[in-house]
Amino acid sequence: MSTTAKNGIEIQSVIAMDAEYVMHTFNRQRVVFVRGKGMKLWDAEGKEYLDFLAGIAVNGLGHCHPDLVSAIGGQAGELMHVCNLYYVTQQPMLAKRLVELSGMGKAFFCNSGAEANETAIKLARKWAKQTGPEKYEIICAEGSFHGRTLAAVTATGQPKYHEGFEPLVPGFKHVPFNDLSALDAAAGDSTCAVMLEPIQGESGVHPATQDYLAGARSLCDRLGALLILDEVQTGLGRTGKWFGCQHYGVRPDIMTLAKTLGGGFPIGACLATDEVAKAFVPGSHASTFGGNPLACAAALATLDIMEREKLVENSAEIGAYLKERLIELQSRRDDIAEVRGVGLMVAVEFSRECAVDVAAECLRRGLIVNPIGRSIVRMLPPLIVKRDDVDAAVAILSDSLSGA
Ligand SMILES: *Cc1c(COP(=O)(O)O)cnc(C)c1O
Repeated sequence: MSTTAKNGIEIQSVIAMDAEYVMHTFNRQRVVFVRGKGMKLWDAEGKEYLDFLAGIAVNGLGHCHPDLVSAIGGQAGELMHVCNLYYVTQQPMLAKRLVELSGMGKAFFCNSGAEANETAIKLARKWAKQTGPEKYEIICAEGSFHGRTLAAVTATGQPKYHEGFEPLVPGFKHVPFNDLSALDAAAGDSTCAVMLEPIQGESGVHPATQDYLAGARSLCDRLGALLILDEVQTGLGRTGKWFGCQHYGVRPDIMTLAKTLGGGFPIGACLATDEVAKAFVPGSHASTFGGNPLACAAALATLDIMEREKLVENSAEIGAYLKERLIELQSRRDDIAEVRGVGLMVAVEFSRECAVDVAAECLRRGLIVNPIGRSIVRMLPPLIVKRDDVDAAVAILSDSLSGA
């Protein structure tokens, strides 16, 4: 079997070099991607793939949208970074856009989802210190995912991500998701915040119920605690609305964003109400790279393109179509237990442990999806996805399911 691709890239040597020099924190599929355009990716051998993962909900505009490419290129040639001791125009412009879209008050910029959540946790603690020194506890949900920094991973309600990193950050509690009485029982005077994803993504697309999210909001109001919503995955059109919480009519005190925000360029944001944001003063928190002109220009261009191309509306429409087609597939088979999700954040749960094999078979047939555990496959296509793409993806999934 030849391992030298058309363009001269030695696939085996890339994999060997990765094994020798890159810390082994991922079990990667043996594919080397070299190019992307819209819904498509190409590997080093020239094979084409339909992307239904979008870099895990990152490439909302698809790959290499020409207007995003030129915004990044133009800004890179003008000014990339100066540090936060000075003003740049792009940072307040992006803050204004996000504040107007979300109804929040102020923004802090960083470079990833975990950092955005780290910011949220620190802001909530700082805010609560005004009330008393003992009000520092943060209640999170089992099955949640908030990132991999020490505080964000402590907030994450999955023990497998904690193993070996103990002692974790003190002051976090976990309660079963969608169980309001468990949340009620865990909360008290020492609670400074409740931190939730409107739809749990990483653990397999589990939406909060209306009663739960609304109940968490009232509980926080009753206790004088903050509701932090992690919208790193659900935010910015993924669920068919700008923000996942808009499906519930629930407003958080702090909201975190990342993934889709830069259209593929790394940037994260922590948004807060004006009242809560006041707890941060100069020196409280900082990021060297956070809010640099290049990242902010990428995010501004991403938001412009999303509005111009009506991608949030597209997410709602094509998301509904995707779910409809998957439910139709479910009705023709006896190994699909459930199809769930909102907008373009969809999971198929099988009644057998075939997810890894199905995803591998999809990849072989040129479709990128994400297996979660043994029986769930998650789909997070770019927000530009069209009906034809859905038809193609569901056909490949169907064939792969028969073959796996
Ligand atoms: C991906 C994700 C994160 C972590 O984001 P990183 O950019 O990987 O740090 C946090 N929260 C949620 C809900 C996510 O989906």
